[in-house]
Parts: sequence; C-alpha cells; structure tokens
Amino acid sequence: MDSKIVIPISEIFYSIQGEGVNSGVPALFIRVSGCNLKCVWCDTKYAWSNGELYTVEELINLIQEFNEFLTRRRHLVITGGEPLLWQKELSILLGILKSKYTDLFVEVETNGTIKPTIEFDNYVSQYNVSLKLGNSMIPERERLIPEAIEWFKKSGKAYFKFVVLNEKDVEEILGHPLLAEIISKHRDRVLFMPLASTREEYIERAPLVIELSKKYGVRFSPRIHICIYSGRQGV
Ligand code: SF4
Repeated sequence: MDSKIVIPISEIFYSIQGEGVNSGVPALFIRVSGCNLKCVWCDTKYAWSNGELYTVEELINLIQEFNEFLTRRRHLVITGGEPLLWQKELSILLGILKSKYTDLFVEVETNGTIKPTIEFDNYVSQYNVSLKLGNSMIPERERLIPEAIEWFKKSGKAYFKFVVLNEKDVEEILGHPLLAEIISKHRDRVLFMPLASTREEYIERAPLVIELSKKYGVRFSPRIHICIYSGRQGV
C-alpha cells in the first residue's frame, strides 16, 4: 500500500457525532475537502476547497495524537465535502487503520451521488446518506443518481438523512419514486433533520420537523453542533 498518497483535508478534530442515529457518540472527525455539489445552504462551505494535502502516513501520525480516540472509543467519522470523491485514497488510510485497530467503527457522511467501490465498502461500518432535495437548489440530475441510490438502498449499512424545512419537502420525497421507496421500505433508516445554519434557525425550525417526523413515522435527527455551536468550525 502506498502511504505516500495524498488526501486534501479540511480539518481533523475530536468531538461528538452531531447528527444521525449515532448522535452524541464521541468520535474522531476527518473532514476531507472538495464536493461535487454546491448546496445553497451548505454549512461546511469552507470544505469545498483549500484543503491541506496530507499523505496517508502523515494522517496516521496525526491520528496517533488523539489519545481519547486511541484508548477509549475508536469511532471515526469521515465527512466533507464529499468523502467518496477520495474513496481510493481513503481505502488506503482505512486499510492501515483497520489492520491496527480491528474494533474501529467507521461512519461515512455522503451526499449519496457516488457509488462506493467494493474495497472502500469493506472498511465502512455505516453510511449516513444525505440525499439532497430541491431546497438545495441543485438540479435533480446532479443530486439524485439512481444507480448510486439503488446501491445504498441495498447496502444494509445506510441511513438516509433528509434536510427538511417544511411539509413541501416531505411531499417532494413522497412524490419521487426513488425517494418514496426509501420511506416505504426503509422507514426505520430514514431521518428528517431541520434545515438550519445557525442556532436561531435551528430553534425556530426544529419543532415543525419534529411534528413531520411524528406524522410520517421516521426518526428526527438533531443537529447538535448547530444547536450548541451555531455552525462553528472544528467542534
Ligand atoms: S453535498 Fe454536503 S458538503 Fe456538499 S455542498 Fe451539499 S451540504 Fe455541502
């Protein structure tokens, strides 16, 4: 394996998972740079570009500095940007980490537009697939890739997080055959989370999304980092 291969990194930090079914779990976050979408409300626009290039070897050394991660709970979240743009390089990193730490749990945050390779998938414990709706202002042909969505539906490791502002967004999901099937067949793996970039927006919008989660029988996902840190970086 070539540990000299490079990956653009936006930030690496130890925190708690802020969204999804593992909300609250302490984890080491590796945020890669670069995204194939440019959602209008993206809360990590700083990760669209300007990442610092790290070799896999340098990343492994950096990870050794996070004592809580190494000694207490080996839970890794790979986020972005869009991590699957770098799945070949990340496979090398994860291959080395998995050989050192056999109990490593790897969560990958993805926009669900890129199908994982068999090699990358071997190292992943869970995907958090955030398929984008019209509220992202991204054309449908770019944000909903049928082949990739079908792959995640069949994977058995995927949870689907939808960023919801109001009931129109839910109607959009139910009116789209590919997305409606995710709700009807994988309801326990679907989460609604409020569209919000600041604490104020979150507090204002979360109650309606809780009601919509109750009405449609899906999980509500908090966005702890927005609620507590109001969109600050590195937390
Ligand atoms: S896919 Fe995610 S990281 Fe990329 S622009 Fe949209 S919200 Fe931001």
